[in-house]
Amino acid sequence: MHCLKLFALVSTLIFSIAITSRAQNPNPTAQALASPTPTPTPLPSPTVKIDGYRAAAARIIGAALTSDHPYARLAHLTDHIGNRLSGSTNLERAIEWALTEMKRDGLDNVRGEKVMVPHWVRGEESLEMLSPVSRKLQMLGLGNSIGTPAEGVSAEAIVVRNFAELDRLGEQVRGKIVVYNVPFTNYGATVLYRLQGASRAARYGAVAALVRSITPVSLQTPHTGAMGYDPNQPKIPVAAVTIEVAELLQRMNDRGEHPTLRLKMDAKFLPDAESANVIAELRGSERPDEIVLISGHFDSWDVGQGAHDDGGGCIVAWEAVRLLKELGLKPRRTIRVVLYTNEENGSRGGNAYRDAHRAEIAKHILAIESDSGVYRPEGFGLSDTAPLQVRSNLQEIAKLLVGIAADNIAEDGGGADIGPLMREGVPGASLDVDGTHYFDIHHTQADTLDKVNPRELALCVATMAVMAYTVADLPSGLN
Ligand SMILES: [Zn+2]
Repeated sequence: MHCLKLFALVSTLIFSIAITSRAQNPNPTAQALASPTPTPTPLPSPTVKIDGYRAAAARIIGAALTSDHPYARLAHLTDHIGNRLSGSTNLERAIEWALTEMKRDGLDNVRGEKVMVPHWVRGEESLEMLSPVSRKLQMLGLGNSIGTPAEGVSAEAIVVRNFAELDRLGEQVRGKIVVYNVPFTNYGATVLYRLQGASRAARYGAVAALVRSITPVSLQTPHTGAMGYDPNQPKIPVAAVTIEVAELLQRMNDRGEHPTLRLKMDAKFLPDAESANVIAELRGSERPDEIVLISGHFDSWDVGQGAHDDGGGCIVAWEAVRLLKELGLKPRRTIRVVLYTNEENGSRGGNAYRDAHRAEIAKHILAIESDSGVYRPEGFGLSDTAPLQVRSNLQEIAKLLVGIAADNIAEDGGGADIGPLMREGVPGASLDVDGTHYFDIHHTQADTLDKVNPRELALCVATMAVMAYTVADLPSGLN
């Protein structure tokens, strides 16, 4: 891959992650310590009137909470198609299925927009301790990693708790496997070890790296996710290990036992594959060229079922418009559903959407992304770059959701796939949910349908549908 593209990939990942972590893992203590009583900017009065939307909101919420359609659809996606890594036949099957079903739903302008996506494959992989005792260790290769030679990489493990410890050891890690045993603080901070760990260790001559999974809890469940290589350093293979394995290696390291490991990975890139962003609309009755975009990403990692991440988010956006259609609610503006391809290991879908729709970017009055799991909704996180009048109006509209306690407008939000639109000035928001348990299962074999609560999924659909419908129907805009 080209250096610039790699940089773009990593910075996109960091960008999206920073948003997620601020939206989901606020650390009030640290924030309070860091900033001396920030003076909140007073918001202008809302210019929208919501009384005319109360009846519609009540109908939407009532209908959403008595429908099992979203759950049944998510069950089909997870149980009959399964996980959906870019380049996989599963992802393309999911895209074909969604296009067929969206047409059956009677949605407008249903289409796939072609996107070429990276095609990384995991292959066989394993991690073994060879000495002082012989045992198999739980692992998952990190996405975009290179593989090892067929016989694997065998070397002594050396454990560090952070990059500062690595830098202190410096050349002492040459020829060794660096293990990052970094406890989870918040996603944005801890994920830097997954993204950068391999290249930072390779700089000092390490032959492979292992990264403690980016999660607060573990039942021997390794978490995969994207990594990126610094083009100026040698590429070394990198895998995630469980908290249990990282702590075992730490104890051995601290006792001076010099554990020797063998890492085997067949991971590699195949040529880019053809994929597509899935698009469907509920066409506006008066200003069809103005767009409220609601979205999720249809790809997932190649483990588990991609149920919360982000099959559920896609179903929320899709079912929100299906529900409005079923209720005969036709807003003035167009509501456009986008199920992006390749969020996880390339962000090609989000970039391709921006490129294909450049001429109408200014017509997007709001873009919402649902990619934080489909737990109990709390409201929306609005990008902190959004105009204050937009914030004031969204806060007003969110009052329609007070009955289901989803009326909060958080101080920041957005998402990786709508990031390219946001950087062009489109106000961006995330569907915010109770994220308490999201990172327990994120990017693991355990992200499966049984973790999805049907009622919470229905509440997410209701929240998305009420917001999208009201914003799309406003007589004047959000500004
Ligand atoms: Zn996701």
